[in-house]
Amino acid sequence: MIVGAEIENKEIAKQYKELLQISYQTLTEKDKKLIRSAFNTAVHAHRNQRRKSGEPYIYHPISVAKIVAQEIGLDATSIAAALLHDVVEDTEYDFVDLEKLFGKDVSRIVEGLTKISKLSKESNVSLQAENFKKLLLTLNDDIRVIIIKIADRLHNMQTLEFMPEDKQLKIASETLYIYAPLSHRIGLYNIKTELEDLSFKYTHFERYDFIKNKIEDSFEAQEQYIKSFSDIVKFTLAEEGLDYQIKGRSKSIFSINRKMNVQNIPFENVFDKFAIRIIYDATEKNEKFLAWKIYSIVTDHFTPNPTRLRDWITASKSNGYEALHITVMGPKNKWVEVQIRSQRMHEIAEKGYAAHHKYKNGNQKDIGIESWLDKLQEVLENNTGDAVDFVENFKLNLYAKEIFVFTPTGEIKSLPKGATALDFAFSIHTEIGMKTRGARVNGKLVPLSRALKSGEHVEVITSENIKPTANWLDFVKTSRAKAKIKSSLNEAKKRIAEDGRETLRRKLKQLKITLNDKTTTHMLRYFSLDTSQDLFYRVGLGTINNKQLKKFSSDFNSTFLNFFKKRIRKQNPVFTNSNKDKITQRFDTLVFGKENQQLKHTMSPCCNAIPGDPVFGFVSVKEGIKIHTNDCPNALSLQSNYSYRIIKAKWVDSSSDEFTATIKLSGIDNMGIVREVTQSISNIMNVNINKLSFDSEDGVFTGLISVSVKNKTILNKLVDNLLKVKGVDKVQRE
Ligand code: MN
Repeated sequence: MIVGAEIENKEIAKQYKELLQISYQTLTEKDKKLIRSAFNTAVHAHRNQRRKSGEPYIYHPISVAKIVAQEIGLDATSIAAALLHDVVEDTEYDFVDLEKLFGKDVSRIVEGLTKISKLSKESNVSLQAENFKKLLLTLNDDIRVIIIKIADRLHNMQTLEFMPEDKQLKIASETLYIYAPLSHRIGLYNIKTELEDLSFKYTHFERYDFIKNKIEDSFEAQEQYIKSFSDIVKFTLAEEGLDYQIKGRSKSIFSINRKMNVQNIPFENVFDKFAIRIIYDATEKNEKFLAWKIYSIVTDHFTPNPTRLRDWITASKSNGYEALHITVMGPKNKWVEVQIRSQRMHEIAEKGYAAHHKYKNGNQKDIGIESWLDKLQEVLENNTGDAVDFVENFKLNLYAKEIFVFTPTGEIKSLPKGATALDFAFSIHTEIGMKTRGARVNGKLVPLSRALKSGEHVEVITSENIKPTANWLDFVKTSRAKAKIKSSLNEAKKRIAEDGRETLRRKLKQLKITLNDKTTTHMLRYFSLDTSQDLFYRVGLGTINNKQLKKFSSDFNSTFLNFFKKRIRKQNPVFTNSNKDKITQRFDTLVFGKENQQLKHTMSPCCNAIPGDPVFGFVSVKEGIKIHTNDCPNALSLQSNYSYRIIKAKWVDSSSDEFTATIKLSGIDNMGIVREVTQSISNIMNVNINKLSFDSEDGVFTGLISVSVKNKTILNKLVDNLLKVKGVDKVQRE
């Protein structure tokens, strides 16, 4: 036993020495003293603990500190905090001790880390999302907290084999869900890749092994290929006096798998399994010039594909990445990507945040990550909604490819791919976004739903009379714009609800019922609504109308029901299900296509979608539109083989989402019929006419009107009104 302990102590000492040697940042004597004492405290605190692997526990904090020092390259404060990160949670030390021993910074970072690990350890997605949201909130305190947390997670993933299988799956999926995207966003590409590959290993072991072996088999051929590339360009590069290295960079197992799945191709057909990197020495002054010089040399020898040129030197990615990427027809007539970057750019790509700090001096331009953090903070502050929603939006933004567009004054703005002019408007200023009436792209008016492309000039047209509508949520891609629109819609909803409450009070009074907490509770149950705001809102909007209120009052007043009330309280479904006028399921209506049209459809028996499921429509030959869930076993084959028959579909809440309906009408043509028809439509509130066309033949007219309305009640009213117009004979909903 004593011999074993001696070996362990030697190993601990050796690890500690290494830690000091591998630090990316130069450590002063003071730094070393801090790290030394953090190390001593951690060794002492964890002296009686062991990891699942049987190793002394202290191996873990040391490994985390090494990742922090070398791979991420953070400062001495972070290295000390990494050594101490599990001390407060697992041992007798507390924050007061740490602050006394190591100062405020270290103890605050450890406190942040302890808070995160205390977040409920649930496998439930919505709780995970809730945790993630909290995790992001800590970003506001000190970004080092989250970076050290990522290092902690990386080491736990590296040693995951010692965990029981169910834990492995849980931790791996959480890593994929949260930590990999976050690493990507902070610019820690290597760590992100390692996290993805390790997660993939534990969630899809056989597939992982299969691809890994394939990569190893092709390794030699890859080296050979890079050499033949290098042989061709090296003389010219040397002639120009460039100091450089040429390296290969393999695509990760995780992303090769994704490519095979998405494109449905075998391993051999994934064409960009590796890229060639040219890393050159440069000064601040000639860095950009040299990049284009190398570009020029490479393309003298190999034909470039002009559509695949990416210049992230002139405008860096929003996570700070800089490089010049080209794809050329390389040796053996194979397309290969060449990434040209200076030593500085390379370090930034590898180490992200820390390297930015090292190179940031004085008047350098704002690095992406800082403005990203600012934006993130704003989104967090504006977001009161559902955590799962929030995370999904947020992740979209994390992974989105970027485009670059110009403001009217020629400024460059970066937006995620798929962003629209509305996103652009919100990215300039919330006030501009809120009042967007239209947009001009390269001088031409375009619909707000159109996705922008890199290089376009965008000009926003605003109007004081514009207010955001629910449709806008379909037009935006950035979580910032979504959050702003949602909070504005909520305000509008609040206002309608306030009016609705007064309306309800008045109407109930006529029915001899007083509006108070008790009646409100009964009404909520009766109409199966969640909150009183929902109730007042629907009254304000007219979705709960006089007829329904009368019916409620007669049920409410009936002694028969009063008699049963006590029983019913416990099993309220009896109450609500018997109510045929039930108006609220949160998602009660399916709409199709970009315009949210209501169309005839049937549910496909293979997956039996229920309201709220993510679904799509499939236009079948005999049976019209059939609805499948996105994860239906047949979905993938339908979508890939019959993509032209797929129609976008989604569930909406008919009381709050607008949908489009087409109305066909016919009758006797007379002077002014068009005016009367439009008049009769615009007499009803909350109806917008999208399209209108009239045909007349031999004194008989037919008209097609497409309108957006909030719900069926309004639509029925519209049809009734149209029938009253003189000359109109038939009105039909398409
Ligand atoms: Mn830990």
